[in-house]
Amino acid sequence: MASTQPSVLIVGAGPTGLAAALFLTLRGVAVRIIDQAAQPTSHSKALAVNGRTIEVLRDTGVGERILAEGWAVQGASLHEHDRVVLALDLPTVMGAQHPMTVLPQARTEALLAEALLARGVTVERGVSLKTLTQDAARVSAILQHPGSRQEQVSVPLLFGADGARSTTREALRLAFVGSSLPEAWCLWDLQMQTPLDPLRAHVLFEPDGFLFALRLAGDQWRVIGNGAEPLAALRRTSKVGNVSWQSQFHIGHRVAAKAGVERVALGGDAAHIHSPIGARGMNLGIEDAYVYAECAADALAGKPERLRDYAVLRHAVHKDVVRRIGLITRLVHGRPPWLRWVRDEMVPVAGHLAFAQALMLRTVGGIDHPLETHR
Ligand SMILES: Cc1cc2nc3c(=O)[nH]c(=O)nc-3n(C[C@H](O)[C@H](O)[C@H](O)COP(=O)(O)OP(=O)(O)OC[C@H]3O[C@@H](n4cnc5c(N)ncnc54)[C@H](O)[C@@H]3O)c2cc1C
Repeated sequence: MASTQPSVLIVGAGPTGLAAALFLTLRGVAVRIIDQAAQPTSHSKALAVNGRTIEVLRDTGVGERILAEGWAVQGASLHEHDRVVLALDLPTVMGAQHPMTVLPQARTEALLAEALLARGVTVERGVSLKTLTQDAARVSAILQHPGSRQEQVSVPLLFGADGARSTTREALRLAFVGSSLPEAWCLWDLQMQTPLDPLRAHVLFEPDGFLFALRLAGDQWRVIGNGAEPLAALRRTSKVGNVSWQSQFHIGHRVAAKAGVERVALGGDAAHIHSPIGARGMNLGIEDAYVYAECAADALAGKPERLRDYAVLRHAVHKDVVRRIGLITRLVHGRPPWLRWVRDEMVPVAGHLAFAQALMLRTVGGIDHPLETHR
């Protein structure tokens, strides 16, 4: 059900768009949320919900539900030559109650959509943004409905949460600045009988790359690797069974040239992409949604300068986080050989230093920057 006169049109009903719709609705702002996909995603995708996300979702009731359905990661173990060379304990080092909870993205999205529905907002599916223009007072958008029907809408504000290939970003003619790694990374959700501790995340440094393993639930694990035969490393110690999802993806580290232009803002993958190392993508998008809701509600209440706050504050966060994840990714992914040597020799040593542990764990917990909503 679309609100009759929405103040904000949200494009995209991934975690960022759903969270924005929920945060805005809780602030009494009428929203309309559309998604070009006929159905929500069924893929697990982002598995880790960090402490910052739980914090911003606290008042929605969704944070509690994520904690109830998911399981709390107790730490991360680094393996070389099938031996643990470094073990970090999440709760002790971070002092946070819920540094990282594992729940497949499809469930996180379902919980956000349910909370939204309970407040009378339904995602309009099969509806896509084709193009937009704006003037000092309104945003005009052309929407494509199933079949050949097009609709022209006029709204005070538009939030583009339409993912890495964002139509909103293109319509604003904003560059997506950054670079991509040459090789594809492989991903599996699979069944595994393994001696790996099921309550921890695992990173295996291998001669031709790295491998990441995190349990989804029961004996189902998420494995990501960039070597020639990533599963071979696991098979040395574990029995690999049925694969329920397999995918390949290319890693880019990119930030939109701006996070907003006048009455149109970008959030989530539309504004920033980076490797899954650090588990930040979905979490950063939900944080964007939180900050946007406060700024947009203020703007609609007569403080238009708050839209600029969003664009400036979030662009700085996006650049900072993507740079940090890019550096960690280049180190972990183990190429070229001199960097692999640094990785294999230095990381296990440096990882025992308190400041390095704090930095790493603040990064995965999503608390490596303050949650600022005002400049
Ligand atoms: C394998 C994998 C593992 C990952 N692991 C993690 C992790 O552990 N932790 C983490 O935080 N992140 C992780 N991520 C990243 C995370 O999945 C993304 O960052 C997250 O989905 C971004 O959410 P979003 O809502 O911004 O964009 P998306 O989820 O891409 O949603 C965008 C939505 O917009 C819709 N859309 C697109 N164009 C239009 C249009 N023109 N009109 C209308 N609708 C449109 C799409 O249909 C889509 O539903 C992972 C990603 C992958 C692929």
